[in-house]
Amino acid sequence: MDDEKVLTRHLGAPGLTTVGGYEKVGGYQGLRKAIQMGPEAIVAEVKASGLRGRGGAAFPTGTKWGFLPKDVFPRYLCVNADESEPGCFKDRVLMEEFPHQLLEGVLIAAYALQVTHAFIYIRGEYRFQRELLERAAKEAYRAGYAGKGVLGTKWDCELIVHGGAGAYICGEETALLNSLEGRRGQPRLKPPFPAVKGLYGQPTVVNNVETLSNLPYIVTEGGARYAALGTEASPGTRLFCVSGHVERPGTFEVPMGKTTFRDLLELAGGVWRGRQFKAMQPGGGSMQVLGPQHLDVPLDFKAVAEAGSSLGAGALVVMDDSTCLVDVASRLVDFYRHESCGKCVPCREGTYFESELMHRLEAGIASRAELAELSDICANMEGRCFCPLGDTATWFVMSALRMFPEEFESHCGAGRCPVRAGSEVAA
Ligand code: SF4
Repeated sequence: MDDEKVLTRHLGAPGLTTVGGYEKVGGYQGLRKAIQMGPEAIVAEVKASGLRGRGGAAFPTGTKWGFLPKDVFPRYLCVNADESEPGCFKDRVLMEEFPHQLLEGVLIAAYALQVTHAFIYIRGEYRFQRELLERAAKEAYRAGYAGKGVLGTKWDCELIVHGGAGAYICGEETALLNSLEGRRGQPRLKPPFPAVKGLYGQPTVVNNVETLSNLPYIVTEGGARYAALGTEASPGTRLFCVSGHVERPGTFEVPMGKTTFRDLLELAGGVWRGRQFKAMQPGGGSMQVLGPQHLDVPLDFKAVAEAGSSLGAGALVVMDDSTCLVDVASRLVDFYRHESCGKCVPCREGTYFESELMHRLEAGIASRAELAELSDICANMEGRCFCPLGDTATWFVMSALRMFPEEFESHCGAGRCPVRAGSEVAA
């Protein structure tokens, strides 16, 4: 594995959360260079880096920026810091450990897009991180990196940190924009896409925290160098949160495409308590389950898609051999039922019925006919919902059912969860 880091390269340096500490490791040199380069050259460098969005959709960042209509102002930059995916905590680490690296990335993007107002929308539960960012933003203003006439230029840039109210759906970019405008946090119809009509009806780019935190490196070291850290299909490095049944859960930065799930599992100390690996979710709660046969799949967008899942938001949740997949599916469905915004029927009603049925199945009181009904419910949700939440509410259930059919069937009429009953006997 290549050892060069991008996002965590300054980890351990003293005072990194202060502007002075960050400057000592070369902080804000990327912004200075970006201003000398000019907007077009920055966009070209980001395109050369091959950077793809790290929030889940993995859309090429430079291309996304290119969708802004020319000569329409004002335009806005919104940072999606509404990190709420089950199993995902890497943006939290970036905001806690490297707040100025994020702000520098935001300012570089804002300059490239000729934005004068950049908003950071942070999830409501991240109160400590919000305070930290607010403090860091004040320092950036005082040091001349934000506010009126950034670094002596004619360019003004205001940084606004805005806390959400604790709704998972506000991670969806148009729901985020609604919430930022003070409306109910529900997705908007697309098109028009935010690049054309976003915040306050103006062209808007929404980028994830990790995506923007890469920009200081890309501008100072060059897009080609960043790209070469990964593979052609999956350039650069990426943060992965590893949690679940591992010895050493945490956030790890690894090169894309050159690292496998097995490597990542080893970084996290392997499966805990000497137990066996059973399954994993490679991209957070929304993604399809993968099994032991996928451990040697590289962390590459295409390879993981071919395996039947997605890297999603970069959260690997590991499950050992004592885990009941029906139980896990049931808990995840409860989460989506709770977080469904209620705007469209297939998701609002579908997650309700899905959850009721999963509870009966996990308790061992559902019949085989009801198990078939579960597939029907999911089939009627996928592709029929207003936004991706409805689809993702079915993905873990359906993939687990396909990969572990006997486990689901053994629950039917068993009177209790047979997997947990087996674990108790084994224990
Ligand atoms: Fe809301 Fe669910 Fe419909 Fe998305 S799919 S708009 S979260 S009800």
